[in-house]
Amino acid sequence: MENVAIFDAPGKGRGLKATKEFWAGDVIFAEPSVSAVAFDSIAERICHSCFRRQDKLQRCGQCKFAHYCDRTCQRAGWAEHKQECGAIKSYGKIPNENIRLVARIMWRLDKEGSVLSDMQLVTLEELEDHIPDMQEDDLKDLKVDIHNFLDYWPRTSKQHTIDDISHYFGVINCNGFSVSDQKGLQAVGVGLFPNLCLVNHDCWPNCTVILNHGKIELRSLGKIEEGEELTVSYVDFLNLSEERRRLLKTQYFFDCTCEHCKNHIKDDLKLAGVEVDGVKPTEEQVKEATDYCYQMLEKMDSARLNGNYHEVVKLCTACIEKTEPVLANTHIYQLRIWSTLSEVQAYLQYFCEAAEYARKMVEGYLKLYHPNNAALGMAAMRAGVTHWQAGEIEVGHGMVCKAYAILMVTHGPTHPITKDLEAMRMQTEMELRMFKQNEYVYHSMRDAALKNKPMAMMHEPKSVDEGVKNLFHRRK
Ligand SMILES: [Zn+2]
Ligand SMILES: [Zn+2]
Ligand SMILES: [Zn+2]
Repeated sequence: MENVAIFDAPGKGRGLKATKEFWAGDVIFAEPSVSAVAFDSIAERICHSCFRRQDKLQRCGQCKFAHYCDRTCQRAGWAEHKQECGAIKSYGKIPNENIRLVARIMWRLDKEGSVLSDMQLVTLEELEDHIPDMQEDDLKDLKVDIHNFLDYWPRTSKQHTIDDISHYFGVINCNGFSVSDQKGLQAVGVGLFPNLCLVNHDCWPNCTVILNHGKIELRSLGKIEEGEELTVSYVDFLNLSEERRRLLKTQYFFDCTCEHCKNHIKDDLKLAGVEVDGVKPTEEQVKEATDYCYQMLEKMDSARLNGNYHEVVKLCTACIEKTEPVLANTHIYQLRIWSTLSEVQAYLQYFCEAAEYARKMVEGYLKLYHPNNAALGMAAMRAGVTHWQAGEIEVGHGMVCKAYAILMVTHGPTHPITKDLEAMRMQTEMELRMFKQNEYVYHSMRDAALKNKPMAMMHEPKSVDEGVKNLFHRRK
């Protein structure tokens, strides 16, 4: 680990600093997980070795719980699954994801010792567990998990003290990282990456984390000086500073003192009214529209969860009619309405509407997010794809290029999404050239392309986990 060093970060405790200069898109370090497990909810639909979502998976013949793409994945996952397999068989049921993860970590440590590779900067014993900070309800859940863990943990495995066991539950509670599927679109599991646990939070960070081919990469978002602290954001910046601070306090047990929180930077934009022909709405009008938007969001979320997509469209449209003339395009509730509406309409194949709202969303995001924020890149990608589907090739190509530039920094050239985007960029570039030469040929060619290449990115809306925006997975 020549790129980073542990240091005492002022006011934050232990942190990581750069030991040389970095530029946007540099990989500061890449780290494999100590262990990772599939979420309970999706354990039958993803491969337990490579975490791909797949329609046809093969079951482990022994425990009937683990699923794999094929023999290769099964063999690759066997070292990690071996003890779990036997434990599940004799336990007679499937323990929850937290218990499965802690057990896997402990089997691995028992076998290999606490330093698993020479790039590991801390031992797992040294990681914070924050158990003394936990609230009563969480402590109760922890006790239940430990109780079940003891039933699950085989007598033939090495025995540990309750303190040791609770330490690991505490560690994954505040440091379990969401593992996403092959496209990075859905959180499908949770894993532990010890070096990542050392990277402190900042609401306006200089790094981002991405899972790429089974390893996490810490990537630089811009120029970083030698000696500068490396930071990532644990929560989505699209919350007000007060809400971010609340989330960070309850989930990660610290008070954020970053510049953006201290000075409430961009909070005003996130609840702003829109000026129409030089006239600003009154505070009262903005407040009323904000409250209305909030109520509609709740109804919309439940309709979306139930898969009632036409109801989602109805609710969003009704809301927009009332609030768009009052609220700015940076208003965070308005942005959520647009985001959901464009996603659902793309799924229902109303591409023109989907494109319009995706574009509005990107315009708002551009004023709020860091220019190299991954969520901004993903939003631009969605806007690009929907414009392309709607036949608006010029805007579509522009958005795809914008998304590609951001993802080259946040995801890097080898990430599957960046590769998809690159293919998309070449396609839209060619189509744009054709469009400028001969519109008729362009349209007939596009129709053909749409027919035999349905875009894989347009999955069912409810499968998108908001948790992908949060760095660490919250245990349930
Ligand atoms: Zn696999
Ligand atoms: Zn098995
Ligand atoms: Zn902050």
